[in-house]
Amino acid sequence: MSSHSSVCDHVQDFTPSDVNERLMAAKEQCRSNGARFTPLRQQIYQLVLEANKPVGAYDLITQLQQMRLNEPEAKNPASNKQTNNQMQKNVAPPTVYRSLEFLLSEGLIHQLTSINAYVPCCHPRAQHTAAFLICAQCQRVQECSSLPVQEIMSFAQRDVGFTVERSVIELSGRCQACQ
Ligand SMILES: [Zn+2]
Ligand SMILES: [Zn+2]
Repeated sequence: MSSHSSVCDHVQDFTPSDVNERLMAAKEQCRSNGARFTPLRQQIYQLVLEANKPVGAYDLITQLQQMRLNEPEAKNPASNKQTNNQMQKNVAPPTVYRSLEFLLSEGLIHQLTSINAYVPCCHPRAQHTAAFLICAQCQRVQECSSLPVQEIMSFAQRDVGFTVERSVIELSGRCQACQ
């Protein structure tokens, strides 16, 4: 996967070693920002990276719940067993939403409002404008951060005096493979 091209496929791009690399990079980014990359935030980021399609918050909650049920109990030998069990098995949706907000604000993931789902950013970096091509058939998502998108932002700021704080442009249609 080239991080220099302006259009990236999110789907099928993340091998387990890519996922690891992304997690390490995110850890480093959070450390230098002074942000707390808590275990839950890491887990959620990992799930978004590993998903081979855009993933919704409800799916994430279900997966986390499942992961906790499958976790061997000896994982945290030092902590109190009873409270530990309880905490492991309950995933509070608000904490998941807060973690997603965090990942969004760090620019690690993007929220696609038209399909109510999340995708990893193809090359995480500070505030950037992106447009997404979402295939309605296979749910493949491509992120574009090429010039035309920047031009819309420049137009808004320079010509209309509008300050853009967050922008997600979503184009729905059929990908090349599905046509
Ligand atoms: Zn992005
Ligand atoms: Zn498609």
